[in-house]
Amino acid sequence: MEPRSLPLAVLKGLIDGATLATALGTKSEAQAEYFFREPGGFRRDFTPYRASTDRSKEEEVRRRGQIDMRLKIIRRLCGRVLFALATLCAISSLAGAAPDDSMRIHTGLRNYDGARRLREKQLQKALESLRHKTGFLDMRFDEAGYLTLGDRNRVAGGSGVARELLISAVDGDKIFELEAHDSSPSVAFARLTVKTIYTNFGAGARIVGMAIQLDFTDFAMLRGEREALMAFDIGFAILHELSHGVLGLKDDIARRRLGECDERINLIRRDLGLPERRYYLPAISLILPPLVEEAELIFALVRWKDGREKTKMFYLRWDAKSVGPRESQTAKTR
Ligand SMILES: [Zn+2]
Repeated sequence: MEPRSLPLAVLKGLIDGATLATALGTKSEAQAEYFFREPGGFRRDFTPYRASTDRSKEEEVRRRGQIDMRLKIIRRLCGRVLFALATLCAISSLAGAAPDDSMRIHTGLRNYDGARRLREKQLQKALESLRHKTGFLDMRFDEAGYLTLGDRNRVAGGSGVARELLISAVDGDKIFELEAHDSSPSVAFARLTVKTIYTNFGAGARIVGMAIQLDFTDFAMLRGEREALMAFDIGFAILHELSHGVLGLKDDIARRRLGECDERINLIRRDLGLPERRYYLPAISLILPPLVEEAELIFALVRWKDGREKTKMFYLRWDAKSVGPRESQTAKTR
């Protein structure tokens, strides 16, 4: 069959798939196949030419010339379609790689923005407690849930050690996220875990995200004198976890002592006139009946009176089983 000549529209590049298919013949004539873009999708199409043997050489050369031109146009069209597709893919992948969240995330301390975020009351409690420890008057959680210190010179009371620690967290290179893990069997009061590595696509930077998991129901179970309760509240729990996360300080779990982490926190207690924690691990007693495992932490307040050192002990107790098992917590009978 004679190859049909290409319409002018094709030569000018003003063509769609259907027009080109008409110009090139029918599918039964296809020897090789090409892909064309057609309105509404892709369609497999075809070349029109099957060389016949009874043509003169001159005619053959002319025909080859025509075929070459068609192939050129086809290639150009395919190239344009592929380029348009590649551009489209690039745009959509860029949009997917830069979600709003990654742009908003920055380092510091914030309330988690997922299901485990602290409720308003819990967040207020944490803020008030941290304000008592640091004395920062302008400190608040902003609309995005980040802790902002405001004017750092506006201070009333508080501890310099606590201020230094909180500033290191807010100005540091990690993101600490407060999470509520109420009635959790695995969190006893508080726990720090490395959670997420956030990637800032714009700057190509990676931010380590650490979760400060807080079990508010555990704090509600504490029994003891007012001073002991004040020395072991939600603000101290946050500062304790920040000492791990910001300063890399450790607890002393193996030997029954305090460890460098709460030794730092004791400096804050001392600044605030609160009793200091003696040991890291609580002593656990089995009370008969009704077989309650009671945990006890000891705090000591050292004061000078009439030239002599006076130590007053304070006790904090709770039901060890209700607060939740902790790998490091081993039951001991007193
Ligand atoms: Zn610790």
